[in-house]
Amino acid sequence: MTQPVFVYSDDLLNYKFSNNHPFNPLRLKLTYELLKTSGILSDDQIVKPRKATDEEIALVHSEEYIHAVKQAGEGTLPETQAANYGLGTEDTPIFSNMHDSSAWLAGATLTAVENVFEGNAKQALSLGGGLHHGFRGKASGFCIYNDSSIAIEYMKQKYNARVLYIDTDAHHGDGVQWAFYDDPNVCTFSIHETGRYLFPGTGNVSEKGAGRGYGLSFNIPVDAFTEDDSWIPILEKAIDEIARFFKPDVIISQNGVDAHYWDPLTHLSVTMKSYKKIPQLVKNAAHKHAEGRWIAVGGGGYDIWRVVPRAWSLIWAEMNGIDLKGPLPKEWLVKWQSRSPVDLAKKWEDSEDLYTPIPRKQEICDKNQLMLTRALQHIRNEQRSV
Ligand SMILES: [Zn+2]
Repeated sequence: MTQPVFVYSDDLLNYKFSNNHPFNPLRLKLTYELLKTSGILSDDQIVKPRKATDEEIALVHSEEYIHAVKQAGEGTLPETQAANYGLGTEDTPIFSNMHDSSAWLAGATLTAVENVFEGNAKQALSLGGGLHHGFRGKASGFCIYNDSSIAIEYMKQKYNARVLYIDTDAHHGDGVQWAFYDDPNVCTFSIHETGRYLFPGTGNVSEKGAGRGYGLSFNIPVDAFTEDDSWIPILEKAIDEIARFFKPDVIISQNGVDAHYWDPLTHLSVTMKSYKKIPQLVKNAAHKHAEGRWIAVGGGGYDIWRVVPRAWSLIWAEMNGIDLKGPLPKEWLVKWQSRSPVDLAKKWEDSEDLYTPIPRKQEICDKNQLMLTRALQHIRNEQRSV
């Protein structure tokens, strides 16, 4: 059995908008070091990424947009034009060499794909990826090039693969959904906080795909304050039924961890319990339906000290069949506590009293359950009729 691959190098740390922007690449390094000091990431499992070529980026993005991103990174894109491409906004400001840094992230996810399809590994993790809001001709929500969309198109063209995309970020995976909305060989599933009060506002349960792709786009918008007790059983049902229905050749999972209670940008109440469970569910589905082929990418996550390193480490642990529990390594805590503005979490698990219980719990569970039913309705009907 081949061992999983961890795609990483310092080249991935240059995707940085500014010092006070919430999207902070330091979280990659924090995770890498946490895995190293935990003793569960060995040098022979690490693969250095490559940079995506312009042709590869153009599998999804327009040449005009790629050119604009290059110009922006060199400081030569006129301000009046930048807005047309979603560049230079508060969310997605222009930074030096932004094309190169973005191409490295896309290349990292392609490196993960190649390792899986060329037979070096069944599973690969590219935590620099997961930029699910990137559109064909427009940057959006901290995302410039959509590495997952590029990887999916690449897998389709080069390996003739049917791809299931599973997105558990707190925000709707809009960029990937719309890129493959009418594609019969790509199925997208996103669970996220309802778009009523949260960016990007889409991801309604009624968005089910179009044309030959109708019925292959799944959305479960959940209520604010949703907890593990609702999030986990819904995911368990959805992932199992969708994978069984679509029968993919490979699963690519986007692992934004901004649904955590501590995340400053969203309003959900998920804890480390969910972040331990999600990779288990995806891995099981990959084994049952895709001969074990699973590519995992990162995504959102804005409590970079207490949440992201622990949650992302759990994906790698699951790929390796390791159960992480109890205290975090002392060496890591000592090194990073002095730089962290908050008290670091000391254990892999969150404490049971992380937050004060809310009275509306049952109502939220019921509403979420209804969304699950509506999202899966058409495949359940189909199964009943055969
Ligand atoms: Zn997000």
